Amino acid sequence: MTTAHAGTASAQVPTQSVYQSRVADYWNAEENPVNLELGMIDDLYHHHYGLGEADRSVLEEQDPERRRTRITAELHRLEHAQAELLASHLGDLAPEDRVFDAGCGRGGGSVTAHLRYGCHADGVTISAKQAAFANEQARKRGIDGKVRYHHRNMLDTGLATGAYAASWNNESTMYVELDLLFAEHARLLRRGGRYVTVTGCYNDTYGQASREVSLINAHYICDIHPRSEYFRAMARNRLVPVHVEDLTQAAIPYWELRRQADHLVTGIEDTFLNAYRNGSFQYLLIAADRV
Ligand code: SAH
Repeated sequence: MTTAHAGTASAQVPTQSVYQSRVADYWNAEENPVNLELGMIDDLYHHHYGLGEADRSVLEEQDPERRRTRITAELHRLEHAQAELLASHLGDLAPEDRVFDAGCGRGGGSVTAHLRYGCHADGVTISAKQAAFANEQARKRGIDGKVRYHHRNMLDTGLATGAYAASWNNESTMYVELDLLFAEHARLLRRGGRYVTVTGCYNDTYGQASREVSLINAHYICDIHPRSEYFRAMARNRLVPVHVEDLTQAAIPYWELRRQADHLVTGIEDTFLNAYRNGSFQYLLIAADRV
């Protein structure tokens, strides 16, 4: 009897590969100004890139201190525009609905969805530090009753089956096998629920992964998937695309501005620009229905 009990009690901590532990180490240690200084503006912490035309007049500001502040604010505006675009594709959500934010970072995406729809949100990150940070932010905002972050593996969340009206990955699909990821989203989403991803993917028409794509993989310890793999893996997991948008052109102004932000650059800026321009890499939004 004792042995049987010990066996059933072991499922508490999701299994984690060595690779996933390295990814967790990366995000536990990560304190890039581009991730922290932008978030401090309005306590919406985004760890993704930005979309839309940039106001380049910020670069002409003569006062150095003011120039930095204005560039930081403009990059944050573009990043937040991406979070809003993603949230706008989540469907008609009501305050009693639940959403699942897979690979949630420091939590800005879940807050954005909650502010827009009033919904409950569960964010999951493999970084304990990020989950703690995001929960503290939700507490300070007074929304911790509805927005919660969990230190878990998004492939094996332990969250309730069929409980979610919508779910998403904002720049976090490149850390996992898509089949396993979409199987978990399909399990969590109710029938008719909406899944959305915004992601960089490599362009099948280019051939294989380019040098730039490989450099991005090495920089972030990730594995960028080809565009085709998204649709194959969705089809295998009851996720039927309803809207696909090529955001590549809309992603470029962000990188052009960021490469000139000396106080925020991480060194990967030109690689992204070259990857987009040589046609080997695309920025995509895919919205799909769970059938
Ligand atoms: N979606 C967030 C963060 C993107 S950064 C945003 O838009 O701001 C990538 C995130 O994926 C990090 O938070 C990292 O911890 C998370 N991640 C990577 N692999 C994961 C896994 N297997 N399970 C859960 N989170 C994971």
